[in-house]
Amino acid sequence: MKPALYAFISLLLVYQAPAQHSLILGFTPEHSARQIALEAEFKRIPTPEEEKRQHRIFTQEPHVAGSKRNNELANYIADEWKKQGLEDVTIHRYDVYGTNPKSVSLEMIAPTHYEGLLKETPIPGDEDSNNRAISGAWLGMSISGEVTAPVIYAHSGNPEDYDLLRKNGIDVKGKIVLVRYSNPYSYRGFKALTAQREGAAAMLVYSDPQEDGYKKGKVVPDGPWGPEYHIQRGAITYDFMVPGDPQTPGWASVPGAKRIPIEQAVSAPKIMALPLSWHDAKPLLENMDGPAAPKDWQGGLPFEYHLGGERVKAHLKIEMENGLQPYYVVAGRIRGSEIPDEWVILGNHRDAWVFGGVDPSSGTASMMEMTRALGEFKKQGMRPRRTIIVCSWDGEEVGLTGSTEWGEQFADDLRQKAIAYINVDEATSGPNFHGQAVASLAPMLEETTRSLQDPSGKSLYDAWKETAEREKSGRQSTQFSASGVVGESLADTRIGSGSDHTVFLNFIGMPVLGLGFEGDYGVYHSAYDDFFWMNHFGDPGYKYHTLMSQLWGVTALRLANADLLPFDFATYASNIRQFVRELASHNRSVILGEAKAPASAETTTGPSGRPRDALAPDRSSTLDLSLEMRAIDDFESAGKQLNESLARKLSAGNLDPQLTARLNHGMMQVERNWLNRDGIPGRPWFKHILYGARYTYAHLELPALTEAVEKQDWPLARQQAEILEHAIKTNTQLLNDLNSSLNH
Ligand SMILES: [Zn+2]
Repeated sequence: MKPALYAFISLLLVYQAPAQHSLILGFTPEHSARQIALEAEFKRIPTPEEEKRQHRIFTQEPHVAGSKRNNELANYIADEWKKQGLEDVTIHRYDVYGTNPKSVSLEMIAPTHYEGLLKETPIPGDEDSNNRAISGAWLGMSISGEVTAPVIYAHSGNPEDYDLLRKNGIDVKGKIVLVRYSNPYSYRGFKALTAQREGAAAMLVYSDPQEDGYKKGKVVPDGPWGPEYHIQRGAITYDFMVPGDPQTPGWASVPGAKRIPIEQAVSAPKIMALPLSWHDAKPLLENMDGPAAPKDWQGGLPFEYHLGGERVKAHLKIEMENGLQPYYVVAGRIRGSEIPDEWVILGNHRDAWVFGGVDPSSGTASMMEMTRALGEFKKQGMRPRRTIIVCSWDGEEVGLTGSTEWGEQFADDLRQKAIAYINVDEATSGPNFHGQAVASLAPMLEETTRSLQDPSGKSLYDAWKETAEREKSGRQSTQFSASGVVGESLADTRIGSGSDHTVFLNFIGMPVLGLGFEGDYGVYHSAYDDFFWMNHFGDPGYKYHTLMSQLWGVTALRLANADLLPFDFATYASNIRQFVRELASHNRSVILGEAKAPASAETTTGPSGRPRDALAPDRSSTLDLSLEMRAIDDFESAGKQLNESLARKLSAGNLDPQLTARLNHGMMQVERNWLNRDGIPGRPWFKHILYGARYTYAHLELPALTEAVEKQDWPLARQQAEILEHAIKTNTQLLNDLNSSLNH
């Protein structure tokens, strides 16, 4: 760069610096300055050494939900939090339905004999992989049983895969289906439900090297990908129907609670299921006859895959122990100094399939350093203005269980008092930041990342932007997208299920955020997801753990200390508009009704010059969302006006406490207004009308409306569109009321 140009740009930077850095969304200038100083102090507290020490404690032993070790860790967290200075530290007990493996065996009995190993072998150099407490292969919520039957290869185990088998004359009724985990990704519980619906006797699910093994790169101990023997455990709970304890759908499993019989529980699977390493799947696959598998069904093993027929037969026996077991949620708080009855909730699950190096212990270690810093602040007399509540969930891996039960227990309080929930599950499997937020908090999250430093030296915001651009240009490393839906935004505002935010968003109607650093990670839910893996591949210097503690705490402190809550409803509106447009672009019968705009010369003919009416399909088989689009426009205008009025009010400083309270309570109500009491048809527990998840866990925007459109149930679709329109109008009215109270 030429010196003159450099000098000119530096001048510009100097000139812009105060405007860019002195104001934080939701804060007056004076309080922004105070907040920035406080955040600088906060960021100094977490250290990589402490992150590593905590991570070692949580990864020392396997700690699956319901185990003695996991319960000891609940006590450990409670004791630590008390020492750190957290208040009202409580261990909440829930008695929930759970399963544990008693004995499992799999043998191939034809065309040759092979006995499944069903366990993971030790890795040289990784002492933990010798631990005798490591479980064998099992899937949570599998039923017990025994079957001898032919084995059929059903690719990913999604409905379209069985259609293809049918076309090839293959019926899976009474047979064992062998499916692989990804390609494309779908939640294993959905694979189990699909196999159950198809009448299969059992489902085996294996990790193909193409998805997370040697076809991706070097495997453990030489690289981050899954080795020959790694087994992805997991639960198959149908928690896309209703999460939590299957026997208490919609209410908390406090000891003694009313329970429905397990046979009536829609989220309890009725099929045997078992996970396999590719080592154990290989003999089955390479001996199969039948038609050659289509090209995209071919995996990474060095032979041609076949669909299977009668040639390969296996004997599978699974004995599970079922019944009630206690799960423990630990909750602690720092009471707010000024507005203790407004809550910011933070949470991470504690239970792991084995050691949980990444999932969830990287998050747990980050949480413990974050709470240490919050405790330090409290000891120095620096309480947040609002209350910060921190929770260690249990049984997330089983069915989002602990968070669901706690959320159901305190739903009324949370609907009154909660500002937002910030989830951290897998804090760190690599350097690439992935931030999720309901659309109204996306700008706030992006702004927060500008004030943090990535280990690369860039701001976290810039590092995030680079990740997002890389992913946009084609490198899809995960099931998630790294970028926002509208314009230049970075935050991922499409929020599916699969972690503990679910009860807060979909049942309680709270804004949620999710934070994580991602990278190449092929040992998910296996014994090799451990301390060794983290120290060699995931985050060897614990710098990203440290950054997570900083980010999580700073985000919480901004929500807890803001004068006016930093919601951006104009951004919410533009996201909703995008969701509706996407629905229309995927379904020709959905029209956004430009034809119905106020009469003018342009609207009497369509783009081809023909009258609109001739273009429009029969109304009984279409859905016109023009009213909804107009309602979104009005909501956006109201949101923009509110943004401007709030910014004006903040920059003037000197806020009237009564007005502030009215504004904040009004803004807190917006997310609650997206709930429909009746929920998604067929899944009444899921009440949010903008956010939902498919059975695969994939995000599903406008869930009830979209599902009705996909079923071509037009009366239902129209009813759901009216519910959407009504909710948007309610929120527009709410924002307009807030606006007028500001301008009086
Ligand atoms: Zn997890």
